[in-house]
Amino acid sequence: MQGLDQIKIENLEIFAHHGVFAEEKQNGQNFYVNATLHTNLRLAGLNDDLTLSTHYGEVSLFIKEKMTEVTYDLIETAAERAAEAILLQFPLVKALELELRKPHAPIPMTFESVSVKIYRSWHKAYIAFGSNMGDSEKYIADALKGLSMDNRCKVIKVSDIIRTKPYGGVEQADFYNGVLELDTLYTEGELLDRLHELEQAAGRERKIHWGPRTLDLDIIFYDKEIYEDDRLCIPHADMQNRDFVLKPMVQIAPYFRHPVYGQTMTQLLQALEAGKRSNYGKV
Ligand code: ADP
Ligand code: MG
Repeated sequence: MQGLDQIKIENLEIFAHHGVFAEEKQNGQNFYVNATLHTNLRLAGLNDDLTLSTHYGEVSLFIKEKMTEVTYDLIETAAERAAEAILLQFPLVKALELELRKPHAPIPMTFESVSVKIYRSWHKAYIAFGSNMGDSEKYIADALKGLSMDNRCKVIKVSDIIRTKPYGGVEQADFYNGVLELDTLYTEGELLDRLHELEQAAGRERKIHWGPRTLDLDIIFYDKEIYEDDRLCIPHADMQNRDFVLKPMVQIAPYFRHPVYGQTMTQLLQALEAGKRSNYGKV
């Protein structure tokens, strides 16, 4: 992660039992871990205070514990679990590289070592939530609770909920909208799956596009990423046209800059209100 300081642990020797073969699981062998923790060391450095840093001794023992409490077939899995556990356990660590070497791997040839190396980090996402069917306040509250209880997510901020009365004579429930800031370990696709689970828990059926819905959860931003695949477009393709997304975004992140348009949330809302762009629906 650019701009952050590093704490490095090199060639930490751990005797463990990971491997596909029965002999490996039975006999065990030495593994070696290289970990680079990305964190901010400024305050610890200025104050000469260990409580403001991450204790490398504790991290080393923690890695050993994670590498030995469960035996995996794959070093990929051992590395994945250890990396996630470190990010959950040590809050000042924002990202890490973890390399797991297995120099005694069962390869019938001369070789120095085999290893896997992974990079994992916390990501910052902004999620828009909306409901206009059934007990909207409860659906939104349940979704927030669902995210708070997920240990791969930390809800950092939640905007006020905007309540909009529908106009026209058609019988339709009020709209409830807001956004939240989330720190998450999920990838973009995993986060979308998680949001769909929460929508389903609110009884949402995907029948009518644009129709009334018990709960809609959209990923507005994911870090500063510009990303698309067959089911995701990030930043959200229409957020700049939706005042019910921009207003709560301005409340919780006024200076957040849209990675494509280059404008802050405040600027995007001003532009929308000045009528410079199409309104919601008229894409
Ligand atoms: P909308 O949110 O546009 O009113 P839906 O909630 O029914 O409509 O979303 C339809 C599909 O949009 C989702 O199944 C998802 O695959 C896709 N999608 C594309 N980009 C995003 C995004 N940034 N956040 C959430 N869903 C998205
Ligand atoms: Mg949606």
